[in-house]
Amino acid sequence: MNPIDGANARRTSRPDLLHRLADDHARRLRDHLLRRVRTVAPADGAWIAVDGKRLLNFASNDYLGLARHPALVEALASAARASGVGAQAAHLLGGHREEHARLEEALAQWTGRERALLFSTGYMANVGVLSALLGAGDLCVQDKLNHASLIDGARLSGCELRRYVHGDVDGAARQLDARPDTAALVATDGVFSMDGDVAPIAELAALCRAQNALLMVDDAHGLGVLGPQGAGSVAEAGLSQHDAPLLMGTLGKALGTFGAFVAGSAALVDGLVQNARSFIYTTAMPPALAAATCTAIDLARHDGERRAALAARIAQFRAGARGRGIALLDSHTPIQPVPIGDSGAALAASAQLESAGFYVPAVRPPTVPQGRARLRLTLSALHAEGDVERLLDALAKAIRPEA
Ligand SMILES: *Cc1c(COP(=O)(O)O)cnc(C)c1O
Repeated sequence: MNPIDGANARRTSRPDLLHRLADDHARRLRDHLLRRVRTVAPADGAWIAVDGKRLLNFASNDYLGLARHPALVEALASAARASGVGAQAAHLLGGHREEHARLEEALAQWTGRERALLFSTGYMANVGVLSALLGAGDLCVQDKLNHASLIDGARLSGCELRRYVHGDVDGAARQLDARPDTAALVATDGVFSMDGDVAPIAELAALCRAQNALLMVDDAHGLGVLGPQGAGSVAEAGLSQHDAPLLMGTLGKALGTFGAFVAGSAALVDGLVQNARSFIYTTAMPPALAAATCTAIDLARHDGERRAALAARIAQFRAGARGRGIALLDSHTPIQPVPIGDSGAALAASAQLESAGFYVPAVRPPTVPQGRARLRLTLSALHAEGDVERLLDALAKAIRPEA
């Protein structure tokens, strides 16, 4: 008898997984929490087209305007013409090309570290690093607002995960004090991806030194934007590899390409090559992408005008919001959230901005805590002064419809 024959299927009370998904979908729809993928076409500068309508994009992580820079496009195309598209294998099995080696050297030099190691994405870097370093019986202490990939990495490792109140170094200290005999890693975003504020990195570094814990900084949003030559939030805090031994950065934000890296001592990088499963068991990034990223690093380091233009737009936005009575969070980075609170209200404000010609998405729970839905707006060197001025006027109307 065929054991999967429908006529003979045993009646059980086993929950149906697809029904459960459908219930979840209905609940999200009801609570204004449904996530929706939209297809976007890049237009000129900071403009995009969505559903055939031109919108000024205030949601991109392309802070320096490099993603469509002709020099990057040319580096990508000429490397692809010379050596093809795919890397054809994992780094350890013949996929590591000269372009990868050159990019790792450039990243190590830029961030002032001994070595750097490429990962295919930031998500994979964080999961790989934490599960390589930590195991059952170890402690991982993290800021409550850290990126999901840091949380997931700690969970996958099987260690004990403790989270402290956002930015609360004393809270981190208490968690380390409670387990003085346990190997421990403290992980923080350098720039928090949903709030835009910078972590107290110097204080965390001092704490980790005193406690013999390892400090890891995820600088996805700081690299290219903060610090001398855009070397990131750790450099801005005046700290070195000695103070923040484990630096992670992504290539898909200010650098305008794709991928990620971990930088630190030769011993750290060698250990990750042996143990980071998301490095070992995956295809190396396309080498042409590595070549384009080398060009992006050159521009990010040496074209200070882009960083200056970005800083001017950030200052203009914050002053303009203050002048219009729009409340902001305490951020001096390109991430400028506008707190709304209610998810339905945040969606409505986002929709109104869209009808006025601006793409500014609403970010809702569980990406942010309950009751803290917001418009998450990002600024770029591609925005003109007039773009920001018009956005501010539309924003004031969208969040205070009666005004
Ligand atoms: C974007 C981001 C990541 C993930 O990087 P990807 O390369 O997009 O996977 C990790 N950490 C932080 C803080 C981020 O903002």
